[in-house]
Amino acid sequence: MEYVGRFAPSPTGLLHFGSLLAALASYLDARANDGRWLLRIEDLDPPREHPGASNSFPVTLEAFGLTWDGELCLQSERHEYYRDALERLLELGDAYRCSCSRKQVQERSGGIIYDGFCKLEVPEEEADAAVRVQCPAEPTRFLDLIQGPQTFDLAHTSGDFVVLRKDGLFAYQLAVVVDDHLQGITHVVRGSDLLPETPKQIHLQDLLGYSAPRYAHIPVAANPEGQKLSKQTFATALDLEHPVPQLFEALTFLNQSPDPALIDASVTELLNWAVTNWKMEQVPPLLKQIRPQ
Ligand SMILES: [Zn+2]
Repeated sequence: MEYVGRFAPSPTGLLHFGSLLAALASYLDARANDGRWLLRIEDLDPPREHPGASNSFPVTLEAFGLTWDGELCLQSERHEYYRDALERLLELGDAYRCSCSRKQVQERSGGIIYDGFCKLEVPEEEADAAVRVQCPAEPTRFLDLIQGPQTFDLAHTSGDFVVLRKDGLFAYQLAVVVDDHLQGITHVVRGSDLLPETPKQIHLQDLLGYSAPRYAHIPVAANPEGQKLSKQTFATALDLEHPVPQLFEALTFLNQSPDPALIDASVTELLNWAVTNWKMEQVPPLLKQIRPQ
């Protein structure tokens, strides 16, 4: 089987150390398996975009020596594929329109679990409506290549989940599943913050008749307060002038034990070493790991 991996950042901010971990781990696993590595920009939510972020991603990855194969894929140019999948789910009877507000769901269920209200009370044709997919009745199980066996019970944690938002934007879950399928992705290596989203993606793959890729979730980097590095926690953007120390730190974080002498290597030398010596089994099976200061 040919290996196809990908890195799929959202342009909600510039790439930071946490993004580098996901990019690097997915790149190394692809290259170590003689695979292809694709770059997809998940620009589905224009109001949340950081100006210039999309354009900065290719430049940043190139500075870090992480060259991708084929054309850059922009989700903003692929709405027709998501529309097709959405229509298919509606035709199959696995999805339905929902006009509930978050407040209404909260009031009825006392939480965030959707209670299936609109399955019975079909919203009027002209009402603004989201589209929800019926979640599986049984727990979803899969084997994560880093985190081990996983079980998620969507019926008791999320209920029927949104694939088209009320504002007309496609939800992440739908777009990512369609693109992973159309791009022939065989391995998804990404941050553990997306682990709880994985059962929804596996369920959509099931409904749409797609094969599921293998999943491997790396620990997310946290600051000393235990908060995940992100735009919200003011993670600093990667420094394009000094890629080697940041790559070295990322390899150390991923427990790849780079030879200390490599701190003086070039980007190419360091990445060549990292591909040759990549050991997925050495990545700690933790959801979160503090980034030392
Ligand atoms: Zn509803």
